[in-house]
Amino acid sequence: MTVDRPLIRKTHREKGAPSMGRPTVVIGQRGTARLKAGHVWVYRSDVISAEGVAPGSVISVADERGKFLGSALYSSSSQIAVRMISSSVVDDFPALVRERIREAIRYREPLVHDTDAYRLVFSEADFLPGLIVDRYNDILSLQILTQAMDVEPVCSAIGNELSERMQPASIAERVEPHIRELEQLPPRESGLLAGEKTNTVFSMNGVRFHFDIGEGQKTGAFLDQRENYAAAAHYAHGDALDVFCYQGAFGLHMAARGCKVTGVDSSRPALEVADKNALLNQSEIEWIEANAFDLLKDYSASGQQYDTIVLDPPAFAKSRKNLDTALRGYKELNLRALKMLRPGGILVTCSCSYHVSEVDLLEVVADAARDAHRSLIVLEKRGQSKDHPMVLLVPETVYLKCLVFHVSH
Ligand code: SAH
Repeated sequence: MTVDRPLIRKTHREKGAPSMGRPTVVIGQRGTARLKAGHVWVYRSDVISAEGVAPGSVISVADERGKFLGSALYSSSSQIAVRMISSSVVDDFPALVRERIREAIRYREPLVHDTDAYRLVFSEADFLPGLIVDRYNDILSLQILTQAMDVEPVCSAIGNELSERMQPASIAERVEPHIRELEQLPPRESGLLAGEKTNTVFSMNGVRFHFDIGEGQKTGAFLDQRENYAAAAHYAHGDALDVFCYQGAFGLHMAARGCKVTGVDSSRPALEVADKNALLNQSEIEWIEANAFDLLKDYSASGQQYDTIVLDPPAFAKSRKNLDTALRGYKELNLRALKMLRPGGILVTCSCSYHVSEVDLLEVVADAARDAHRSLIVLEKRGQSKDHPMVLLVPETVYLKCLVFHVSH
């Protein structure tokens, strides 16, 4: 047998891209197909070998035949073992992080208006898996959610780039203890990473809010709803009920448009901030600490009436498994709300569960409308604000639904 080229056995390190000693993770067919379809995650069950790969490494990903598929971040403990960062070789991850932060800032410049609070970096949606950075006026609040983002010199690169570009008064880290546990990272306290300022006032659509690095859920506020606050306020009128109001954002926006607002939440600390926010905006709002399900049941049974109702519950479907229960929860809320809306009223109904699709939510409201004998017109089908990018090939980046209805009769 003759060969017309030298016979060199190629290993997976050599095909496609030189790995230069970079740790390599080999993935199976299902994972490979996922990546080829444009997704950025590979689950642990699709990893064939990750021998000797240290937690939080920047890795080369190869298929079973040794073909290089791209560079990724490796987690030794998360179910999402591999998070892609590039289709080519990454030699200097901290430099790539800095570049991606600059890109994230540039992307938002033409898109974010009427606010000094917005999400600057949103993890996979900005090709920076495990890094979230929110701006609250002159304070940046960040979360680090993956092993690879938690190491030096990556952390310094993040801090330095943010300081240079944004010149914040301070940078705070918000630690999610259960995520650090899942990622097998040592426990750490939330606190300041740079600067000394711990609280500030920020504004969205002309409405002002208190921010304190130690308070609240998420990094402080639900910035993904920012554009929906303005939309809801545009349609809102008369007596308005803001259900699951948290620190009062929908309610404060509606009050600024002249509505008489009642806000409901089960969290007292959230309502205390809501009350301070009302004072800041010279709005008079009634805040009620209650379980929303009980309150809506009582109010609808006693014949309370509203012109505008906002429903913005927490994610009921944390996984696909409890989708049915979640849909029943959404149905109950929407049914009770529809019973209380006057003709000509406005229903703003939201779901931040990734597993509940827009179609699911429309069906839930349709079901509720049938049961309540109400006729509804869809005014708007909305999603998350543009500073929470929806990456077309990564469906998990699209999660928030906000539907606005006119109740005809
Ligand atoms: N609309 C808010 C965000 C709501 S987040 C905004 O735009 O800022 C969900 C809120 O629901 C949280 O504030 C939480 O405290 C509250 N919550 C959760 N379960 C509840 C219940 N059963 N009854 C009332 N509030 C509840």
